[in-house]
Amino acid sequence: MKDTSYYSNLFSKLKVSKSKELGTANHKPILILSVIDLITRGIITNNQITVSDELINTFDKYWDVIGTKSRKGGLHYPFFHLQSEGFWHIVFKPDYDKLRITTINKLRLGVEYAYLEDELFNLLQNENSRQEIVESLISAWFADNTSEIEKVAQINQDLQDLSSELDICETTNYDAQSKESLKTSIIRNTFFRKAVLHTYEYKCAFCGLKVMKLSKYHIVDGAHIKPFGEFRDSRIKNGISLCKNHHWAFDTGLFTVDEQYKIIISKNFEEESPNAQPMKSFHGKILYLPSLEKFYPELESFEWHRQNKFDK
Ligand SMILES: [Zn+2]
Repeated sequence: MKDTSYYSNLFSKLKVSKSKELGTANHKPILILSVIDLITRGIITNNQITVSDELINTFDKYWDVIGTKSRKGGLHYPFFHLQSEGFWHIVFKPDYDKLRITTINKLRLGVEYAYLEDELFNLLQNENSRQEIVESLISAWFADNTSEIEKVAQINQDLQDLSSELDICETTNYDAQSKESLKTSIIRNTFFRKAVLHTYEYKCAFCGLKVMKLSKYHIVDGAHIKPFGEFRDSRIKNGISLCKNHHWAFDTGLFTVDEQYKIIISKNFEEESPNAQPMKSFHGKILYLPSLEKFYPELESFEWHRQNKFDK
């Protein structure tokens, strides 16, 4: 069955050129991410993917951040070669010599549009499927290794810078909803989560809980300390890794963190916890922190949380 697992697996095995000198050519995964990004932003709405300015720009921007620098960028490489994978098809303009597609301009001239096989296009209409496919693409091609914290952190930072730039140069072509989803880009959020979880070694900073399955599924969230919706701040230092329960409790203001990274518990709630350590018993304990001090959460973010979220 061609479901999200099928495509996650397929995308992790894309045929790409690899060499010691030049590194892995990751044009194909970046093209797929770009297409998913445009679907999420409401720019691609039907299964005809044209060589539009939006696609070229999105591909180039992602290439700048996550492309293999020793390789030449350019949308025309993967746009053409993705055909060999079976899920991507191109409708060429009549009488166009396919072999002449060596630049983006020629791609524009020669291609009517590309389309995905129906099963894939339909899956990508669903937010959860998109999320799962993006997660697995990023894991397979960009940052699967916990020893790569620095790299993931840098990508996360670069995407933060890039999105500030995108926020500024957004045109009026998009409606309000597309603008919103552009800012909350699925790819940017995935890198944020990955960076934060790597940094905290997949443990809840509050209770230390760590549950993983197949190095892909885990019980913790990458939580924003100052809410993303308000501050657009996806730096690691505005992030903290929390299990589902403590993420909810943090966002609801049942606990906060002081200047010494000590946990402060609100007095305004009741709890029964016959089988696990009650939240209230964590009062005064030090938060579990990343091993690298430069990734510690920012005290200023916690101060904001104490003032604005904590239920005193
Ligand atoms: Zn927890």
